[in-house]
Parts: sequence; structure tokens; C-alpha cells
Amino acid sequence: MTSEIERLCLDKGLKMTGQRRVIAQVLSESTDHPDVEQLYKRAVQADPRISIATVYRTVKLLEEANILQRHDFGEGRARYEEASQQHHDHLIDVRTGEVLEFRNEEIERLQREVAAALGYRLVGHRLELFGVRAEGARDNGGKHPAKTAGKRRSGS
Ligand SMILES: [Zn+2]
Repeated sequence: MTSEIERLCLDKGLKMTGQRRVIAQVLSESTDHPDVEQLYKRAVQADPRISIATVYRTVKLLEEANILQRHDFGEGRARYEEASQQHHDHLIDVRTGEVLEFRNEEIERLQREVAAALGYRLVGHRLELFGVRAEGARDNGGKHPAKTAGKRRSGS
């Protein structure tokens, strides 16, 4: 089966080796913005011959091809997600490193207004919120709405 990331690689004419296919598959299945270490741990489950150096190189290649987006959430390690998603912002739980995705139309509008007031048309932004879970907060059920909303199914 061809994963979404592998399909994007093929579209861009990247050569897909067996190990790259495994890493692409792992990336496609990840919804948690993994770092290289986490990707490596998942990839070796499928193919124990994969080295962390291969994961590094593949991730870098995919980032350069704009298939992956790299995030720096201030933890001293890069974290990755598929680039071709609907725009969303992130809230990082500073205790657990968990990343929640959200989109808020009022924030989007305010950012456009700030840029306009400075004489600019906004073409992009990054917004990261850092927090600790509030006492008695409802669990969000581990849902990542922006993730599923923009996700296309491959195959069928
Ligand atoms: Zn995200």
C-alpha cells in the first residue's frame, strides 16, 4: 500500500527505496508531530535495518522537498508533520510535550489586521502557545481536529 507521504514523494520524483517507504509510512501514520528519535523507534519496528542516520537524511530530504514541515517548539529538537495540511496553529503542553492543533478565525483575522496596519498583506504566520493543563480541565479526547479535517484518503 502506498502511504500519503510516499505518494507525495513520487509526485515530486523522489526515488523511493524500501527504507524510505517505511519512513514515509511511519510519517503518514503519525499525528503527534514526532521528532527524529521517535520516528526512528517506530521505523525500526517495521525494518530493524533502518539506522537513525537514514531517518535523519530522509526527513531532511522530505523537508527540502516541502513534503514535511519542521517545527521548533523550543525543546531543542525539531519535530515534523506533513506539510500539505490545512493551516493550523499549535499549543504545546510544556510538561508532556504533547502538541494540540487548533484554528481560531478571530486570531487569523487579528493577525491580518496587524499586518495591514503596518502596511502589509499577510502571506503566512506561525503561532505557538505554550501551556500547562489547567486544574480540572476537560480531556480533549486526544483529538486533533485540524489533522483529520485536512486529511485525504489515499487509495480507493
Ligand atoms: Zn500540526
